[in-house]
Amino acid sequence: MNFLAKRYYFKMTSARFILIAALCSVGYNYIFLSKLFADTGICISLLTGVLLFLLFVLAYSLLFVKYAAKYLAGFFIIANSAALYFMQAYNIAIDKIMMLNVFQTDTGEVGGLLGGEMALFFIVFCLFPLFLLYKTEIIYAPLKRELLTRLKMMGVAGFLSALILLPFSSRLDTFVQEHKRLLYHLMPSNYIDSTLSAIKIMHKHHDFKVLDKKAKINRYWKNNGRKNLFIVVVGESARAANFSLTGYKRDTNKELKPFAAEMMIFPKADACGTSTAVSVPCLFSPYGREDFVPGSASYTENVLDVLAYNGYQVLWRENNSSCKGNCNRIPTEIFCQNGKCHDKPMHADIKEKARTMGNRAVIVLHQHGSHGPDYFNRYPEEFEIYTPICKDEVLRNCTLLQIRNTYDNSIAYTSHVMADLLKNLQQLEDEYNIVVIYTSDHGESLGEEDTYLHSAIYEHAPKYQKEVPFWVWMPDSAVKNLNYDRTCLRRRSQNSVSHDHLFHSLLGLAGIEIPHYNPELDIFAPCRR
Ligand SMILES: [Zn+2]
Repeated sequence: MNFLAKRYYFKMTSARFILIAALCSVGYNYIFLSKLFADTGICISLLTGVLLFLLFVLAYSLLFVKYAAKYLAGFFIIANSAALYFMQAYNIAIDKIMMLNVFQTDTGEVGGLLGGEMALFFIVFCLFPLFLLYKTEIIYAPLKRELLTRLKMMGVAGFLSALILLPFSSRLDTFVQEHKRLLYHLMPSNYIDSTLSAIKIMHKHHDFKVLDKKAKINRYWKNNGRKNLFIVVVGESARAANFSLTGYKRDTNKELKPFAAEMMIFPKADACGTSTAVSVPCLFSPYGREDFVPGSASYTENVLDVLAYNGYQVLWRENNSSCKGNCNRIPTEIFCQNGKCHDKPMHADIKEKARTMGNRAVIVLHQHGSHGPDYFNRYPEEFEIYTPICKDEVLRNCTLLQIRNTYDNSIAYTSHVMADLLKNLQQLEDEYNIVVIYTSDHGESLGEEDTYLHSAIYEHAPKYQKEVPFWVWMPDSAVKNLNYDRTCLRRRSQNSVSHDHLFHSLLGLAGIEIPHYNPELDIFAPCRR
């Protein structure tokens, strides 16, 4: 190929290469700098830009040694452009939880799939700079002179950095604390630090944590001649704000309305995290949000283990990315095959399945729900109720209304799926005491405050990502046979609930009391007769 024929277009000394690379690195940080500008104004952001340039000069003078310089520069171009894409397309910050999602192959968590716009972005921010780098010849001076030049550059950069920082030295700590959330946008420290933290979380050796599963069995129900069937449905990216059962203007839960009289409908629940990798394992763990350690599901037993140990047959049905460690010791059936992964097929044979599971059964259905950005893939065509929809995976290219329409269609489909499940289960009422608990792993941002999808850092996350639906369907037959008080259940659902409650509520429902069981976090406990 002709343009490859000539090896080099540019020739430059290593010093000039370092200066240009430092300047480009500041350029890649335009999101960080513009956020800082919005927070602090022109002076501070300009000074920070200059300071960044000097720090890059310092770092590259050390790192960009002969033979390694171009490879390192190439690495930074690739990594910066990848991080930049997700930050600018979805206003996403990069932290260890985000990287954990990446390593757990939850690519959907991080943002859109490959699209045309992404390709263009990569040509401009990745391939073109890589090509220029390839065509650049770096001239290194003899070792002594090279060393001296580098030392001089580092000296000047260090001196100027100190000059900038000195007047602010007394307030620097407070300043960094106040603007800490912006550091998740500062490259390359954000992705390097997050990657190292995520690797540490995944590979740190932990002794397997066994729960004290020996339970005091509390059969609070009288002998009612029926089997117990408890179903937990873990939704995906469903946010409380868009559920009409709890006040959303659009009738997104229309199909569930006929079941409302037999439901506990909580106004909202606080999710344990803003991403699947945190929330799904946390939901089943004995630890609440404050004490839950991301990554711990791989070495800690959960409520399903306790149920299985105490005579319940447990089954996990997976239609999402994975069970996130919850089903490691539990029979699991995987459904999602075609990428669209509609949720209805997951319970098509639920009656037959339940009948193979003995007198006490717990089934978890892990839905694909409303996973973005391709909300339009989350429902069959006939559920295109609200139009116009957004068919672009780069959500910024759609209007907020289009995004909301598409998302609401996915919620309406989830309502249909759940209503269909409940209808199926109604046919089992003569044989079983049935309870269905539905919640979502986390919520979703639909462009509010220029934020999309989820996985925001919990402390700074918008409420849309943290507030999820939570409802329980306990038909009158189960209320009667399991000895509950309907009025009390209804009253209880007016109070607050969070993901912290699931572990204890499931155990309470099953009549299994282990040392970890806390009746105060059992939503059913106060309503037993
Ligand atoms: Zn999720």
